[in-house]
Amino acid sequence: MTANPLPENRAPAAIRTEALEAILTEKGLVNAGGIDGLINRFVNDVGPMNGARVVAKAWADPEFKERLMSDGTAAVGEFGFSGPQGEHIVVVENSDDTHNVVVCTLCSCYPWPLLGLPPNWYKDPAYRSRVVREPRKLLGEMGLDVAPEKDITVWDSSAENRYFVLPQRPAGTEDLDEEQLAALVTREAMVGVAVVQA
Ligand code: FE
Repeated sequence: MTANPLPENRAPAAIRTEALEAILTEKGLVNAGGIDGLINRFVNDVGPMNGARVVAKAWADPEFKERLMSDGTAAVGEFGFSGPQGEHIVVVENSDDTHNVVVCTLCSCYPWPLLGLPPNWYKDPAYRSRVVREPRKLLGEMGLDVAPEKDITVWDSSAENRYFVLPQRPAGTEDLDEEQLAALVTREAMVGVAVVQA
């Protein structure tokens, strides 16, 4: 914890967070180095690529996909993906009939070991309320036009369940191997605000 001067242009939330961390550290309740290490790990070491590897394997290996759908936490554990915010992973599969999209209406619950830390838009109150109220319109504004005949299901992540979208495998990818498939899969597609393009 460095004693930074606080310039006036810093976000109030950043200043509050820093103050809280300082107090908790002073009282010996947390270890500042530990917090920095944790953040560093999820910002720099874990990113959406973990999730993309899981999606690619599910597309390529039907038996893995079956395990993934029945117990997401155990199946991603086969890759060694586990840890904070990785408990109770529930995978929801996009199909020709249904498009799935994930939100945390309460805060920003997110499957860290698969996707890293959530992007700012995921934490934005506008996203969190509008995706529930008018998902089709919001997704359209985010660049995803869901076909009118397709249902949209919105999943509210929490400490109980952290949802993860298994996107549809795009046509024309039959000859790709897992690594090539994984390279197509974006963070946005695994939250359900985009689809995977070949
Ligand atoms: Fe949350």
